[in-house]
Amino acid sequence: MKDITTLLHAILKRCRQMIPLACCCWMGCDDSARGRFTVVATTSLIGDAVQNIVQEHAEVITLMGPGVDPHAYKATQQDVKHLLNADIVFYNGLHLEGKMADILHKLSKKRPVYAAGEAITPAQQLVDPNFSIGIDPHIWFDVCLWKQVVQYISDQLQAADPGAAAYYQENTAHYLQQLDELHQETVQAIQQIPAAQRVLITAHDAFGYFGRAYDMEVRGLQGISTVSECGLKDVTDLVKFIIQRKIKAIFLETSVPERPLQAVVEGCRKSGYQVAVGGYLYSDALGQAGTPEGTYHGMVQANVQTIVNALK
Ligand SMILES: [Zn+2]
Repeated sequence: MKDITTLLHAILKRCRQMIPLACCCWMGCDDSARGRFTVVATTSLIGDAVQNIVQEHAEVITLMGPGVDPHAYKATQQDVKHLLNADIVFYNGLHLEGKMADILHKLSKKRPVYAAGEAITPAQQLVDPNFSIGIDPHIWFDVCLWKQVVQYISDQLQAADPGAAAYYQENTAHYLQQLDELHQETVQAIQQIPAAQRVLITAHDAFGYFGRAYDMEVRGLQGISTVSECGLKDVTDLVKFIIQRKIKAIFLETSVPERPLQAVVEGCRKSGYQVAVGGYLYSDALGQAGTPEGTYHGMVQANVQTIVNALK
């Protein structure tokens, strides 16, 4: 008798395990079918902002991983599926995701789709006449502007998922405080570099907002977007500038090929000037998940440390 009871219990337990599985497969096994609020973000930076707000409450799907260049990124079929299944979508905007503009525009007719760039005012935008829309999209490098972006994303999430609004607001307030500290830390760290050496030379012009916020002159070899190629004249002009200004180091970027900047190092060497490679900066993508650089906070700290170590 005891054996039959045990067997019945085992069968019932097994059924209970299988019923949700059957439902899930029948409904297509996606997150929306399970009822979990699903947020899709284009870049790893936007994904990190969302993750800090929703924590474990919602599913966050980030389309572009570490080392991926958003200027050149094209949506895959899997991305399109994720976008269509999302409850809400966030992207950077200001033409950062240049090759995804069409798909995001079409999607905005079916789903709530928000651009982080909407969080900053025209007066806060950096203008660059050489870029297609004339506005620099790399807004995350001014921590104060990024705070505005975090608040903007949080407001949209609270409206779209009202049941969790209080929780999202609490997480946002806590995270904004951490970003305040990060901003102060960055201001102080950059002051360690002698004023004449406060020049940041990188592969592409991603650091304009960083330069404005933290008092550094910024030069990129390639312009605001990586899609435009740099020419020989860009290389020779930068070589001249480095030698004239006695710049100690220039910086590679994790999401941009090294070769053009190596040509600058070589050009300096041929003219008898030794410029160091100060290391890699994270520009348009975070580092590997699970490392400090895999978060916005850790990425900014790592960049600042690399810059200060090479130029001070
Ligand atoms: Zn960029």
